[in-house]
Amino acid sequence: MPLYDFECRACGRVFEAMAAMDAGEGRCACGGSARRLVGVGRAYRADAPWLETVAAVVEKDSARPHVRAFLAEPSRANHRRWMRGEGLRPLEAGEARPAPSGGGSVRREVWDRFAARRGRN
Ligand SMILES: [Zn+2]
Repeated sequence: MPLYDFECRACGRVFEAMAAMDAGEGRCACGGSARRLVGVGRAYRADAPWLETVAAVVEKDSARPHVRAFLAEPSRANHRRWMRGEGLRPLEAGEARPAPSGGGSVRREVWDRFAARRGRN
């Protein structure tokens, strides 16, 4: 069974648990019921939440290899590959990553592209 993130309705704790693919509910250590946090529609876990944020805005219908690879497995390595494929410069080792709450220029550029695509549709 794959791992999923759950959020407890009672105490707000977010935790990982193995669950069946169709399980929508989990049980928190406090005894409360927990809802499964929906990722990007796949049964994978990204390396980090910010990668899921990126995966949510990439072109899902693109057949380009760097997009398919990243959507299949949103790892940091595939994120770098995707950025290169999009003409974005990946962060170098030791370079500060944009804050998860946003504000980084790369993140802003990705969102701008996402907004532009939606505007065309
Ligand atoms: Zn709880």
